[in-house]
Amino acid sequence: MMQESSDVLILGGGIVGMATLIAIDKYDIEATLLSDAKTIHKKEADARFYAITPGVKIWLEKNGVWTFLPNKEVSLVRSIFVYSDKEHSSLKFDADDVGMNELAFIVNHEDLEKAFIQRISEISYEEIRTNKIKSLSAGVENINLSFADDNIRQFKLAIGADGYNSWVRNQSSIHFKSKDFDQTAIVFNIKTSKAHQDCAYQKFMYHGILALLPLHTHEFSIVLSLDNEMLEEYKNLTDAKFIQILEKETGEIFGEIELMTNRQYFPLNMKINESLISDRVLLVGDAAHQVHPLAGQGLNLGLRDVIELDELLSSNKKYHHDVGLKFFLKKYNRNRKTDILSLSYLTDKLSSLFTSKNNIVDFVINFGLNKINQNQLIKKILIKKAIL
Ligand SMILES: Cc1cc2nc3c(=O)[nH]c(=O)nc-3n(C[C@H](O)[C@H](O)[C@H](O)COP(=O)(O)OP(=O)(O)OC[C@H]3O[C@@H](n4cnc5c(N)ncnc54)[C@H](O)[C@@H]3O)c2cc1C
Repeated sequence: MMQESSDVLILGGGIVGMATLIAIDKYDIEATLLSDAKTIHKKEADARFYAITPGVKIWLEKNGVWTFLPNKEVSLVRSIFVYSDKEHSSLKFDADDVGMNELAFIVNHEDLEKAFIQRISEISYEEIRTNKIKSLSAGVENINLSFADDNIRQFKLAIGADGYNSWVRNQSSIHFKSKDFDQTAIVFNIKTSKAHQDCAYQKFMYHGILALLPLHTHEFSIVLSLDNEMLEEYKNLTDAKFIQILEKETGEIFGEIELMTNRQYFPLNMKINESLISDRVLLVGDAAHQVHPLAGQGLNLGLRDVIELDELLSSNKKYHHDVGLKFFLKKYNRNRKTDILSLSYLTDKLSSLFTSKNNIVDFVINFGLNKINQNQLIKKILIKKAIL
């Protein structure tokens, strides 16, 4: 049975899906948000913290999300210190270098998700919670979503915000390249005897990458991207032994370390889509791109997809009656390409370069990091790219 529908279907109720709903709501375009029924019953709180860039924060403020974050949970990054196992190579970025107060704002996944949920409760939209979707098929004027009970809903546009294993992408036959990094991210929080002074750290080690985001004065959120060949060994370590290894890896910088949370595990992959659009379909967030978390940019990249969509809707009012038109979708695809591809390649190359066991590569990295550190102009360019 064919049912009357809204203009846009957003499939996936994660952070990027909710951001898309907020962006669309401003333009008097009717939206339906379809969430996976299982997201209601989450087992464990997500330990991830995000380093939100100043550019994305401005959008979150303007669109009424930031105000719902509990202030005490937002810490700042004023500098970033990058170093490696390879001797004497390091690089430091300071917000002062580009006349900014901060380079990023640290937000906990759960708090950000709650802030989005509060914000979308102010919006009028249709919500569907189901696991019983069957297929998506585009026609000339509409796209049809079929359910297991053979009901069909019609929309002008379907937006896939359904994460890295996107069902929307599969249904639309959008091809993608996938790379398994053969690494797993171990996420946990620590307390240190030395204060962090709003500095984030990134250490490239022989067996992975350690990223430390500053939380309260003596606390860090850590993402340890570890080569899978070491994973079982690390999983079997007691907390005490795990901390002992961490203290050895981080050296004197942090002093004594105390483990504050359980360790959570995330397998790491990269996905690059051939296109972000198909007939009456558009992808955002991890459905559109999956990158290595070493630069802490995956969610920022997804929210920048939404910011682009927002800007296109704002400057192309003639498409509001039908946002699924090819011309409109093509603009989105074109405008998002450079940001996504450059970040995907950068994170991929950095992860393989720094974990390389090749002596020549080691020499180039040593030389390169130190040279960049001495060159204010290159540092400014890199920082400006990172705070978009
Ligand atoms: C260890 C780690 C650390 C990270 N750190 C950072 C960081 O510091 N900064 C940063 O910017 N990014 C970071 N990221 C990346 C970031 O977590 C992701 O980019 C972001 O969560 C993607 O959000 P999303 O809404 O696109 O996808 P998801 O969070 O995956 O949401 C997708 C939603 O769609 C739903 N869904 C899926 N399939 C269906 C379906 N068939 N029907 C209906 N609903 C469906 C899911 O249930 C989910 O709710 C990190 C990632 C990892 C793994």
